[in-house]
Amino acid sequence: MSLTFFKMDEFTCGCGCGRNEIDPGFVAILDKIRMTYYDRPLIVTSGYRCPEWDEKVGGKGNHPTGSAADLLVSKGMNMYDFMQACFAMGIPRVVVYRGKPHVHVDMVADKPKGVFVL
Ligand SMILES: [Zn+2]
Repeated sequence: MSLTFFKMDEFTCGCGCGRNEIDPGFVAILDKIRMTYYDRPLIVTSGYRCPEWDEKVGGKGNHPTGSAADLLVSKGMNMYDFMQACFAMGIPRVVVYRGKPHVHVDMVADKPKGVFVL
């Protein structure tokens, strides 16, 4: 698997434990989505999280599966297009947070699919 934009290291747990169990297939899909957005970066603000870190930051167990990430979508990027790209490429869940700049995307099995605004 070769990635054009993302590096696996960008998905390492943010607590300093050094663990990174992000699913490479998930990252490959994010890389393809990134490719549809020309020169606009997608910045990983949270990728894999160890269960301890996820609990500490108030997560709901999605990030420890390795199939979830929080991304900063560049200013000027059309969010609707971004969501369309996610769904087209097999990422069924996008969560947008009111008043926060990042979006959460995941493909965790048995979670509701769609766009959610929290
Ligand atoms: Zn950790």
